[in-house]
Amino acid sequence: MSTIEIVPLRAFNDNYVWTLVSGGNAAVVDPGEAAPVLEFLRDRKLALTAILNTHHHADHVGGNEELLRHFKVPVYGPHDERIASVSRRLREGERFTLDGIGIELSVLEIPAHTRSHIAFVGAELLFCGDTLFACGCGRIFEGTPAQMHASLAKLATLPDNTRVYCGHEYTVANIRFGQAVEAANPLLAGWAREAAAQRERNEPTLPSTIGREKAANPFMRCAEPGVVASASHRAGRPLADAVSVLAEIREWKNNF
Ligand code: ZN
Ligand code: FE
Repeated sequence: MSTIEIVPLRAFNDNYVWTLVSGGNAAVVDPGEAAPVLEFLRDRKLALTAILNTHHHADHVGGNEELLRHFKVPVYGPHDERIASVSRRLREGERFTLDGIGIELSVLEIPAHTRSHIAFVGAELLFCGDTLFACGCGRIFEGTPAQMHASLAKLATLPDNTRVYCGHEYTVANIRFGQAVEAANPLLAGWAREAAAQRERNEPTLPSTIGREKAANPFMRCAEPGVVASASHRAGRPLADAVSVLAEIREWKNNF
């Protein structure tokens, strides 16, 4: 297996189409738009070999059809008819070798942002769409706080050095929220400076790592005393369990 380069292609305002490149091949994760992908493939003289979709939202799948007009490639995604172009529908624990890239990926079902949301993990890489963000999590559109808690807990079992490639550049605002929730967390100030400097240079703040998320992301720290205390303070009553804490801080973030 030759080395793999992971390129962030920008789409819309703040989406990333994570692109895995090996030799003359490229596979894309969540191509909400085709144009930046086609331009990149042309510039680098690469062939598209696969499309991966984490969930059905248009900003993650909107480029599928146009890419498929140029390249007949497999589309890996969830069991969800709302993404008509998926050719390989995958469930928890299923594995496949990524066409043209050669790494083995396995599938994690991580519902809550949407009911069929999946992640792809392998070779110490995690592509997690809109479920886990750097220092944050996705909005709960089709699930429950309990599902989001379980999905994040599942991701937390991955090795600490797993690199986290999420769907959006939300890190700076998420860290600001993290500081509101857990002011005493010593990691947040340094991360805030680092992320602000990266954005200043117009660089992505990603990937993050699972180790960093476990240490700093309030949504992965819903049993930590500092997070429980500030969620309880906002709720105006003591919150007894991590799911209630997650529900409260998700609601807080929605209005932050
Ligand atoms: Zn989404
Ligand atoms: Fe999205």
